Amino acid sequence: MVKKLSIEPGCITCGLCEFVAPDVFEVTDISHVKKEACFKTHATGIKEAVERCPVQVITYQDMDSHETED
Ligand code: SF4
Repeated sequence: MVKKLSIEPGCITCGLCEFVAPDVFEVTDISHVKKEACFKTHATGIKEAVERCPVQVITYQDMDSHETED
């Protein structure tokens, strides 16, 4: 499960993350993570955005296997 999604400094506003996961990312002056975004529902899109971001500034923690949620 994706948690703690964030955008590090360096976004070049290419718009790719918003294109692949428009319910999660919003690109204005830079890319932002939408407050209401459901990381669970959009985990696939988030991971695709992380992999495809040309400057690799999208980071997240993946809690899939070892840790439990509160
Ligand atoms: S894919 Fe990366 S560089 Fe492009 S808008 Fe999103 S965070 Fe910025």
